Amino acid sequence: MFALRQVAKRFDNGTEALAEVTAEIAPGEFIVLLGPSGCGKSTLLRLLAGLESPSGGEIDWGHGGKPAPGEIGYVFQDPTLLPWADAAANVALPLRLRGVAEAQARARAEAALAQLGLGEFAGMRPRGLSGGMRMRVSIARALVGEPELLLMDEPFAALDELTRQKLQADVHGLWRRSGKTVVFVTHSIYEAAFLASRILMMSPRPGRIAQDFRPRLPEGRERRTSEAYFQLVASLQASVERIMAP
Ligand code: ADP
Ligand code: MG
Repeated sequence: MFALRQVAKRFDNGTEALAEVTAEIAPGEFIVLLGPSGCGKSTLLRLLAGLESPSGGEIDWGHGGKPAPGEIGYVFQDPTLLPWADAAANVALPLRLRGVAEAQARARAEAALAQLGLGEFAGMRPRGLSGGMRMRVSIARALVGEPELLLMDEPFAALDELTRQKLQADVHGLWRRSGKTVVFVTHSIYEAAFLASRILMMSPRPGRIAQDFRPRLPEGRERRTSEAYFQLVASLQASVERIMAP
């Protein structure tokens, strides 16, 4: 689907965020970018979205140019919802900006909210929703345009542990049902182990891909408690200790 070839990013102030990132990402993968703070994960996500250009190497999206608006969904750590608009209007916003008529945009927004388990809450404003629900609205907004590629930048970092686990399970389930390609950034080993079909471990800045894991864990309830899950956590832990060694 797309390929990164020796992608480097040096900012104008001289900061070298990424050095020689090379990877091929196939349609339908759930990629987790795992690495310490400041290693260039968000930078890599912005490059994948076409929001910034690499200073070296190239990104190939598989169809020539940069992705068009609507081809990619982007979820940030902060849900960034409009406080005066209800959940459905927030989710409909990207469609409205693309000229979709209000009634149709609202209907699609309500369907997207229902997919995230918020069918009943379409008329609620963000103030009336919990942190986890606001993040669900934000994910629905990223999915409403039916993007092929979903980019998520530490979306659950501000949530409590149990809410976070529920959202992880729901996003993992959505991914399995939809067949979309997901690139998800986190610095949590446990989150990476639970979510990913593939984990790209990044080294400290300037970021490179230090290790590429393709775990096979059981689906369903035993996913988080299986032997394979704990073995994966241990492997990721060992890898983190290696890359962080002085
Ligand atoms: P991560 O998401 O892994 O924490 P980032 O991609 O945000 O890391 O940042 C990687 C490095 O690049 C950091 O040192 C950060 O300070 C720097 N950086 C990020 N954006 C910019 C920018 N626009 N200009 C200069 N330096 C930046
Ligand atoms: Mg970041």
